[in-house]
Amino acid sequence: MSLRFPFVIVGAGPAGGRAALELVSRGHGASTALIGAEPYLPYERPPLSKDILQRTDEPVPPQIAGMDGLEATGVTVMLGQPAVTLDAKAKRVTLADNTVIGYDRLLLTTGTKLRRLNIPGGDLGGIHYLRNFKDSLALRADLLGGGPVVVIGGGFIGLEVAASARKRGCDVTVLEAAPGILGRSMPPLVAEAIARVHEREGVKIRCGLKPITFEGSNDERIAAVVLENGDRIPAAVVVIGIGVEPEVGLAEQAGLTTDNGILTDDCGRTSDPDIFAAGDAVHQVAPFLNGERLRQEAWQSALEQGVCAARGMLGEPSSYNKVPWLWSDQFDINIQSAGVARNVDAVVIRGDVTKPAFTAFQVSAGKLVGGITVNNGRDMAMLRRAVGSDKRIDLDALADPAQALRAVLL
Ligand code: NAP
Repeated sequence: MSLRFPFVIVGAGPAGGRAALELVSRGHGASTALIGAEPYLPYERPPLSKDILQRTDEPVPPQIAGMDGLEATGVTVMLGQPAVTLDAKAKRVTLADNTVIGYDRLLLTTGTKLRRLNIPGGDLGGIHYLRNFKDSLALRADLLGGGPVVVIGGGFIGLEVAASARKRGCDVTVLEAAPGILGRSMPPLVAEAIARVHEREGVKIRCGLKPITFEGSNDERIAAVVLENGDRIPAAVVVIGIGVEPEVGLAEQAGLTTDNGILTDDCGRTSDPDIFAAGDAVHQVAPFLNGERLRQEAWQSALEQGVCAARGMLGEPSSYNKVPWLWSDQFDINIQSAGVARNVDAVVIRGDVTKPAFTAFQVSAGKLVGGITVNNGRDMAMLRRAVGSDKRIDLDALADPAQALRAVLL
């Protein structure tokens, strides 16, 4: 089968879905095709490691507002068939079932792929990765067995899964190869505070050790994780969350420029003027960083970059210039993080990291570059506004909760 559309979107995740809705809102629904590898309309990923794992009723893919009406708008939605080749010269993509789709303008929202842990025993039953709705259902089914659960990787996926499994009553151990959890995203003081919450809730955290073998039971299911120091941790379920990489396979096939993601300008245009890209796969110029590049792996940026790129596909001026922001819920704490913590030379705490609520501000050369709130979301709106401002911050005033945050930051 051979089809042609003015606008083709490859990747039916949040970025692709929002881009499609943006094209619909500009009157281009019938000119748009949305292609997705999974059999579902674009859905929310944040609940996959939290709500879905914890709920007692049978979950359905968590809807994103507006996506259920996508097909009624005239958009051609082609699900369950990944795009496998991209020929930028001929301006066409080919799907796994050999359907060929021509385009005038293409948007790649291919997201990320999981980093795999290649150690012996990796194909035993009960070993999980968590990327999509199906993965979440399979993990949930295994968690119903009660554990013990070993989580490999102390990043966001690992810790959210650990909290969910613990809430289900499972015995949980988190293994992190680095000296501490959340080493990529949080300053040590904050990561240690989050670790204490997990330990208070009964999660065992072991850092600085790598697993080297998965040991199986007679029925070919995971029985234990063996560490490099010889320790053997019993496990009925293993969850591996050791990071992701941008999915750039199609972009590379098409000869687009890539470097830690698909390189784009601030609107999402790639090195081919008729191909755009948005979401986690993109290494995009960020105006608020004076044109340096940023690759984000987050919910907000995926949605908003999708909208921005859709406008670019229509030839409208558009620029994505938002400070990164993400959140995580683990047990009774809400963690929010904003900004880009490059060249941080001071971390200023407002509050007390041993208490349930505090804010950490990340400062570089006297200016605010980022921050984290733990159960202190009311500071976050101000923090997001202030990141990137040229104001030199009085660090003593910043640490003093008696001083109004607005006056200190803005
Ligand atoms: P991540 O945040 O990159 O964390 C992975 C962790 O695993 C890192 O601390 C890493 O340490 C560690 N690790 C690597 N190899 C290991 C090994 N062999 N044994 C033990 N630990 C190992 O990635 P993730 O947690 O897998 O999450 C995937 C993506 O989803 C990320 O982009 C994340 O931000 C996103 N996500 C976001 C949220 C949220 O915003 N709430 C929730 C879930 C997921 P090194 O740094 O030393 O390699």
